[in-house]
Amino acid sequence: MSGTRSADVTRLGFDVGGTKILGVATDDGGAPLRTVREPTPAGAGSLVDTLAALVRELAPVQGAVSVGVGMAGLITTAGVVTTSPNLDGVNGATIGADLSAVLGMPVAFENEVNCAARWELSSGAAQGIRHGVMVAVGTGIGGAFMVDGEVLRGANGLAGEPGHMIVEASGRLCPCGRRGCWEMYASGSALNRLAAERLGEGMRGPDVTAAARNGDAGAHEVLAEYSHWLALGISSLCVLTDPELVVISGGISEDWDLLAQPVSERLGELLIGRTAETRPAVVASEAGELSSALGAALSGAQGDGAALSDPSRMT
Ligand SMILES: [Zn+2]
Repeated sequence: MSGTRSADVTRLGFDVGGTKILGVATDDGGAPLRTVREPTPAGAGSLVDTLAALVRELAPVQGAVSVGVGMAGLITTAGVVTTSPNLDGVNGATIGADLSAVLGMPVAFENEVNCAARWELSSGAAQGIRHGVMVAVGTGIGGAFMVDGEVLRGANGLAGEPGHMIVEASGRLCPCGRRGCWEMYASGSALNRLAAERLGEGMRGPDVTAAARNGDAGAHEVLAEYSHWLALGISSLCVLTDPELVVISGGISEDWDLLAQPVSERLGELLIGRTAETRPAVVASEAGELSSALGAALSGAQGDGAALSDPSRMT
């Protein structure tokens, strides 16, 4: 993607994760032109400095671009990070407002799965969908609700965090301090644990999916057990919101061809009062790792919905 004239770049979007920052520069239509990646530094100050440097790298001519940032964690409509379990030193920080002050331009800032859901609605699997659910399965589980064609933010901006929905009342202790959260059973980390328990020490999720592709019966049993937990949580989201579509993103989406059938079958058993016609389709996102960064770029360009910090309006 190198060699593109910087004048074509009108939007920048960043996805700040526990290990890396992924940045994308797009044109007016949201098509990616360039990407950058950088390890996520510890601490809010270093994070803002790194983001500012990446903005300058991606768009040497500032002022002609919009900027959006999506980040893992709970982020209020006022742009305050209330908790972000996989990032160090950011609780209580106002990353968007701080970056806005450094750059002297507006910056949109919100949860990274909300950003991904915006992208799915505009250009991905959820185009034309009014009511949908997004489930991002990685180290933990993130999510977003699409309601009437918009991403639901909730009273404080904290809606759509199904990873900490309790599915087993006296279950495994979660890093959040409670027991039995969905992500303790259905995240990528949970599949790693299940692989080691069922197939032997040192086995992980990718070993299970590779073995399943080779027809290994034991691996398929592990995936069936894992599919039960995935479907259990998805069924609760469906009971609450009656979606047309469930979009699965994150690392697990790459192996969705192995999981689609067992998850759909289990979901059919768990969902009451529905026929094949009213049951939601469960599909994998096709955006790959760029969906949150592209969605953040969209948030920045739209300037609404997300927490937007604008230094020109500050007193
Ligand atoms: Zn939890």
